[in-house]
Amino acid sequence: MTSLPASVDVIVVGGGIVGLATALALAEAGAKPLVLEAKSFGGAVTGGSLAAIGVHMHGLEEYALLTEACGLWRSFSDRSGDAIEHNAQGQVGFCLDDEDIASAETWIAEERALGAPYRMLSASELRDLEPGLTGPVRAATYAPDTATINPFRAARAVLAAARAAGATAMDHAPVAGLLSAGGKVQGVRMASGQEITGDAVVLAAGPWSQEIAGAEGIYVPLFPRQAQCLAALRQPAGTIRHVVSGVERKGGVDSGYTQIQQAASGQILFNTVMELMDTAPDAKDAVREVPPGFVMSSIDMLVTLFPGLADIALLRSWVRFEAVSPDARFLAGPLERDGLWICAGDNGSGYCRSLMLGRFLAGEITGKPVLDAALRADAARLYAPKRFAGVAA
Ligand SMILES: Cc1cc2nc3c(=O)[nH]c(=O)nc-3n(C[C@H](O)[C@H](O)[C@H](O)COP(=O)(O)OP(=O)(O)OC[C@H]3O[C@@H](n4cnc5c(N)ncnc54)[C@H](O)[C@@H]3O)c2cc1C
Repeated sequence: MTSLPASVDVIVVGGGIVGLATALALAEAGAKPLVLEAKSFGGAVTGGSLAAIGVHMHGLEEYALLTEACGLWRSFSDRSGDAIEHNAQGQVGFCLDDEDIASAETWIAEERALGAPYRMLSASELRDLEPGLTGPVRAATYAPDTATINPFRAARAVLAAARAAGATAMDHAPVAGLLSAGGKVQGVRMASGQEITGDAVVLAAGPWSQEIAGAEGIYVPLFPRQAQCLAALRQPAGTIRHVVSGVERKGGVDSGYTQIQQAASGQILFNTVMELMDTAPDAKDAVREVPPGFVMSSIDMLVTLFPGLADIALLRSWVRFEAVSPDARFLAGPLERDGLWICAGDNGSGYCRSLMLGRFLAGEITGKPVLDAALRADAARLYAPKRFAGVAA
């Protein structure tokens, strides 16, 4: 096994897409980051993602930041020779009833006011765009700029780019705790007992970030939430042409939310969230099975929308754990201890945000902003961990 350095500029704890993107941005900003991943790179929620990259129905206040995030993935795809299977297929948000239509029209009006090229589709326009969607859909939203990427390939490509830019990254390297002295975090202690010092430590360990900070008496309001997905056997290319989603009522994944898409491999990936589950803190450390009710609701919705897929065979299912904050936005910025930073959160669309968040945080840590001033101000306001100051465990 390659030995770990005794000292680096910045230690990033967690090698999911958020930690890898942070390391890439830090290395590109001239710092020497070290990523420490407890298991395998991208093996937690990152590898279980549907990895849709889009702005539509994700919250108006983050509109500019999400637009930047999508552009960063497009550029990254170009620069990696499309190794990440970036597919700008667009998104349709189906409406089954009056309530869906009212929500959809509100989203479209508000997003168009910000300059988005989105519009409502009639049922017949929808069928022209998505011929297999012959279920009882009354109207839909249309966001032509939503894309998907391959979550495994993208994590590997970001890791390779970070290494090429000067980052060091080690998998199967669990961090046991933080090293603190004089009110400052000065590094980490590995499970192996080795100590590594750094000028800054970034917690990018998803829902595990809370425990690492908590051991130092720092409360981080992030909670694990169980999420799951199904994949069906390969279908001919073009069986599902867009990201097909439900209309989000509040922004972010919520009860009743559906996402269906076809991967480049031909597999149909789909899920319908019946209701958000209360997840025990230690659930994330155990192997979990997909709940039968979730399987039934997801298949019901898939076949309701795409009756031609009634005989489709399931291939696999998986459970992962997202990290959710009380307001469902990321925590990205300094924690209440010198030298300690965080970049974690989720609400079902952290893959999309990761390159943008990494650049924001790298700019804050190195003191050399990477995002432009307006975006940086938005990110500092929306993602500041201190918005929860005073909230106790
Ligand atoms: C079914 C599903 C669909 C999704 N669809 C989308 C989508 O369409 N679009 C989108 O943008 N997002 C989507 N997401 C969300 C997205 O996948 C996540 O927001 C994103 O992957 C979060 O990445 P992360 O790096 O923060 O977390 P993780 O991937 O969980 O990474 C954290 C890492 O920290 C490591 N770690 C933990 N403790 C330690 C320790 N002590 N020492 C070292 N390492 C440690 C873990 O092993 C893990 O690898 C979806 C998620 C799911 C489950």
